[in-house]
Amino acid sequence: MFPAKVARAAGSGASVPVECCQVCGHAPLTNVLSLGYMPPVNQMVAIGAVPRQQPWFPTNLLHCGKCDLVQIGLAVDPTIIFPPEYPYTSGTTKLLRDNFAELHAEASAMLKLGPQDLVIDIGSNDGTLLSNFKSHRVLGIEPTEVGKIAASRGIPTLQRYFTPETAAEVRREHGPARVVTAANCFAHIEDVHAIVEGILELLGPDGVFISESHYLIGLLDTLQYDTVYHEHLRYYSVNSLANLLQMHGLEVFHARPIPTHGGSIRVYAARRGVQPVNDSVAKMLASEPRGAAMVARLNSFRDEVVLSKLRLFAMIRNLKEAGAHICGISAPSRASTLVNYVGLDEGIIDYVCEIAGSLKIGKCMPGTSIPVVEESRLFTDQPDAAIIFSWHIADELAPKLRAKGYRGKLITPLPVPREL
Ligand SMILES: [Zn+2]
Repeated sequence: MFPAKVARAAGSGASVPVECCQVCGHAPLTNVLSLGYMPPVNQMVAIGAVPRQQPWFPTNLLHCGKCDLVQIGLAVDPTIIFPPEYPYTSGTTKLLRDNFAELHAEASAMLKLGPQDLVIDIGSNDGTLLSNFKSHRVLGIEPTEVGKIAASRGIPTLQRYFTPETAAEVRREHGPARVVTAANCFAHIEDVHAIVEGILELLGPDGVFISESHYLIGLLDTLQYDTVYHEHLRYYSVNSLANLLQMHGLEVFHARPIPTHGGSIRVYAARRGVQPVNDSVAKMLASEPRGAAMVARLNSFRDEVVLSKLRLFAMIRNLKEAGAHICGISAPSRASTLVNYVGLDEGIIDYVCEIAGSLKIGKCMPGTSIPVVEESRLFTDQPDAAIIFSWHIADELAPKLRAKGYRGKLITPLPVPREL
């Protein structure tokens, strides 16, 4: 039923090419975008450290002609891309905090959750999602050290990679879950069929799986090639996600767009026939390109990505020829792809600012020697221009930067480079 030849890099200490579709097993896959070689986005070297050899991985986006899944071309060992010191914490973004509060309101009303219902979050990070579900029983599963932050906030957290074995153990100890959530991590775990089986193991008969994933169609529409990196193995449409879940007897009964990460989808699934299917599902499916239309959409995406790189470079060249000092605003994972694909380095970008408390301060942008510094530097230095690398939340950031006194040009690099 499931593809026999799945690219598994876990335990290899290196990487394995994705030679057949991760969901349906179809081969060969078609290359739709090449971004060159990239360093792991979360391996950041300390400022001033002696340069040493580092791994770089080919970064290609592939399309499956059979099930339309868009996927990365290389699976990298999770111990390389999710090291224990993984510096990402979801609680630092207001948009994400608001989204999880809204998720709780929607899910608890729709599913009539009671205090005894168990809610399990896979890839629970710092516990931001589960902190909204504290009036129910909660359990987080998180492989990195960030899980300790959740535990200190009173959210029981198992520090472990999510595998079918972990699922069986949790089921034995805690009983069946009413809700299993996977927010922005369902595309990150290799061996996706084992993960869905693990989720089925956790779910009670009326259990509901809620996933939030970056949305392929939004990615294409707003040219978010910067979200292509090896943590993201799959780029889901509602169609490809429903297809995967269906292979395991799960039916999507509600789906809708949400604003996180520059455009995501929230998808509810349950065992077939358990929940009435909302009209939202057919509506979203009908809006997505399939087959030849998907191929055409992907080809135009590739052409637009190349032009976008050249346009951003031209804009920066003009600034540098006028003697400008340029810095970057915020260092999300996606900034690593943008910086490395466009070819920005410490000669072009003086430094990148992060808000005080960020674990990235004191380190360099991956693959470069661009230092990441505390944001206050921006207001004392007043560089001529600042490129907002977390451009997908520019509406939230720009007014704050102005209010704190930054007077230079504010630039968003995508989808079309422009001065705000
Ligand atoms: Zn496929």
